[in-house]
Amino acid sequence: MATIESVTGPLDASELGTTLIHEHLRARDESNAEQFPHLYDDDALYAAAVEAARGALDRGVKTICEPTAMLLGRDIRFVERVARETGLQAIACTGIYTYDHLPLFWESRSEDTMAAAFAHDIERGIQGTDIKAAFLKCAADEPGVTPNVEKVHRACARASLRTGRPIMAHSRPASETGPRQVEILLEEGVAPEQIQIAHTGDTDDLDYIERLLETGVYIGLDRYGIEMYLPTERRNATTLALLERGYAERMFLSADSCASLDWFPDETVELLMREGAVNDWTITLVHDKVNPALREGGMAVEQLETMMVANPRRWLGG
Ligand SMILES: [Zn+2]
Repeated sequence: MATIESVTGPLDASELGTTLIHEHLRARDESNAEQFPHLYDDDALYAAAVEAARGALDRGVKTICEPTAMLLGRDIRFVERVARETGLQAIACTGIYTYDHLPLFWESRSEDTMAAAFAHDIERGIQGTDIKAAFLKCAADEPGVTPNVEKVHRACARASLRTGRPIMAHSRPASETGPRQVEILLEEGVAPEQIQIAHTGDTDDLDYIERLLETGVYIGLDRYGIEMYLPTERRNATTLALLERGYAERMFLSADSCASLDWFPDETVELLMREGAVNDWTITLVHDKVNPALREGGMAVEQLETMMVANPRRWLGG
C-alpha cells in the first residue's frame, strides 16, 4: 500500500484508520501572532489542541488531516507536538489559504515558483523540519476565483503533478466557486480523483453538488456545526440524499473545527453560540451527533466506513 507522510513520520495507508478529513488544531493569523505574541496564550492554545486531539481519539479517530496552510498560521512543530503527546496521527498540508490577498512576495512571482515552494514542503520538509506535507491546500471564497486565487490553484496543480499529492480546495457554494476551481485544476492536468472540493456541504442544492461529483472529484461535507451556513439537519438530509444516489466513494464527513481560532474576540464567539450560528462546532460532533443521526436516517455501516476510512486512504494514497 501507499506510504503517507504524517507529522510523526511515514505511515502505511492501511494505518490511517478512521480519519477526519478537515480539522484544525489551531487557526490564526501567523503574522499577527509573530508580531504581537502577547495577544496569544500559548499554553492555553496548546491545551485546547491537546484536548481536541484526545476528544477525537476517544471516539475512535486515528487520524486527522490538518489543513492549516500559510495565512492560517501553519506551525508544523505545534502540530507535531500535539501528535506526539496524544498519539493522534496528523497529516499536514502545504499551500496558501487566501480569498484574494497575497503577500507582495507572491504577487510578483509566478505560479511555477510558487509550485516549487509547495513541492519543497512535500519532498524535503516543512519550515526547516523533515516533516513532509501530504496534500496541497488552496481556497476560493466570496470574492470568487480572483487572479491571485487562480495563481494559487495553478501552483497547487503543478506541485500536485510533480509530487503526486492530492489537492484540497476550500470552496464557497454560495458563490458557486466549486465548478471554476475544478475547471482550473483539470485544465492543469490534475486527475479528478486527486481533487477534493471542501465545504461543498455548505449547500443543499443537489444539482450544484451533483454537477461537481459528475466531474469525478471528492467533496467535503465537512462543516458540521457551522449552522449559519447550513443547519445540521439540512446537512444530514443532503448527505443521506447523496448516499442514496450512490456517491459514498466521493464523500467526506468532518466539521472544519478549530481547537482555537483568533478571528473573533471571545464575546463575539459567545454571541454566535447564543444565537445558534454555530452549534457543537467541535472535532467530536461528527461522531457524537452526526453519525448516529445518519445511521438512523438509513446510512449503512459500510457507507460510513467508506467515507471515514476508505476514502481518506484512497485520496491521500493516490
Ligand atoms: Zn478549514
